[in-house]
Amino acid sequence: MVQVLVASRNAKKLRELQRVLDSAGIDGIDLVGLDAVPPYDEAPETGATFEENAAAKARDGAAATGMPCVADDSGIEVDALNAMPGVLSARWSGRHGDDHANTELLLGQLQDVPDERRGAAFVSACALAVPGDDDEIAVHVVRGEWRGAIVHSPRGGNGFGYDPVFRPEGEDRTAAELSAEEKDASSHRGRALAQLVPDLAALAR
Ligand code: IMP
Repeated sequence: MVQVLVASRNAKKLRELQRVLDSAGIDGIDLVGLDAVPPYDEAPETGATFEENAAAKARDGAAATGMPCVADDSGIEVDALNAMPGVLSARWSGRHGDDHANTELLLGQLQDVPDERRGAAFVSACALAVPGDDDEIAVHVVRGEWRGAIVHSPRGGNGFGYDPVFRPEGEDRTAAELSAEEKDASSHRGRALAQLVPDLAALAR
């Protein structure tokens, strides 16, 4: 078994990656979260892109532990806001992680924007950093997108973040009205992680 660090304390993210490995038939990987390794300095997310943040997080985890490390950074890009909030999604209202204030601010900003211009996409960048010989760390970053639109008022109690105001393409329901399994099957993070499967399979061999 090769141990792979997931640079997250979110048990849901660990379980999601485990499901991706299971459905790809990869059984040689033991995923461990940040709570299972000695603490190290975690740099703040200051990158201009999801890719930069994910790569930095994965590289830091691999450098600190010597283990291969998977990290992700995600958010929502709204067409009418020129792809904002983007990397600022978690702190859009000025308070990090205040999901209710973030979605309320977004709905207020889009109040007069007609349906045909309410397009948006959830975006996830996932990075895998693998320590090699002579202190080199190889980093592979991939991106997954989930297109949809911002509705006019929040609906649904599942999920988190902007899920209650995001209606995926081809759906009448918001992401917060989908089951966890339905969301996994098409979400940005699922699409990004799927692209890392060949690298993870190579690690497991
Ligand atoms: P992080 O990458 O886990 O730090 O997430 C960044 C922010 O993007 C979160 O706080 C959410 O506001 C938003 N976000 C990312 N993925 C999702 C999702 O699947 N649903 C809803 N909001 C999301």
